[in-house]
Amino acid sequence: DLSQRLAAVGEFVPESARLADIGSDHAYLPVALMLKGKIKYAVAGEVVQGPYESARKQVQKDGLEDRITVRLANGLDAIQPQDAITAVTIAGMGGSLIREILEAGKLHQRLSGQERLILQPNIGERTLRSWLQENQYKIQSEKILEENKKIYEIIVAEKEQKPVTYNEMELMFGPFLLEEKSEIFKSKWTRELQQRKAIREQLKQAANQEARQKQIEQEIQMIEEVLEI
Ligand code: SAM
Repeated sequence: DLSQRLAAVGEFVPESARLADIGSDHAYLPVALMLKGKIKYAVAGEVVQGPYESARKQVQKDGLEDRITVRLANGLDAIQPQDAITAVTIAGMGGSLIREILEAGKLHQRLSGQERLILQPNIGERTLRSWLQENQYKIQSEKILEENKKIYEIIVAEKEQKPVTYNEMELMFGPFLLEEKSEIFKSKWTRELQQRKAIREQLKQAANQEARQKQIEQEIQMIEEVLEI
């Protein structure tokens, strides 16, 4: 069975999608969605030999070789035009790595703009949301969940015809998560606040850290505002 985290990512994949799962590792996500009959076709992309082999073995074991193609490729280079991909999942990596993968994919023309992006950054959500904004992707929904004491965010986005703009608060906290302010969200940001306060104390001892200090101070204020402290 899928982890709660991957199952939640899978929930956002549209029915009958042609999916590209990038950084697929064991290809658990595309295999589970295919076995459920939710998707029509999938590409499982892996840049590392070991996970690529694991993905191939898993697909073979379930007899899905004709419907799931496993490719050894960097990021979205795993996608070919004839795949006619309609959804892309990139899960379990840092937000800045996901951002780099999307940026390279854009430069290599691997994104048609028609596909839904379902992204699950482990950290660095803000830089990922900025990339989405800069590239006219509108956030359609978000989810925050906790599994094994870790908190995960999922961001779902689709390309818009017109510019999209988010304010500082929306970029940092997520427009939907900010609106919803769930208990998990509050516990995440309570933790984040404590970390930043510790950093603030350290920075007080350090020289030439004014810019960083100012940044941390602003973030602390934003978090306190959101948590109504
Ligand atoms: N997506 C799965 C999940 O969420 O459980 C696996 C996550 S695993 C922590 C990250 C995987 O991404 C690793 O198998 C790694 O090899 C792969 N990866 C990292 N950078 C990549 C890239 N640029 N292109 C393709 N795969 C990449």
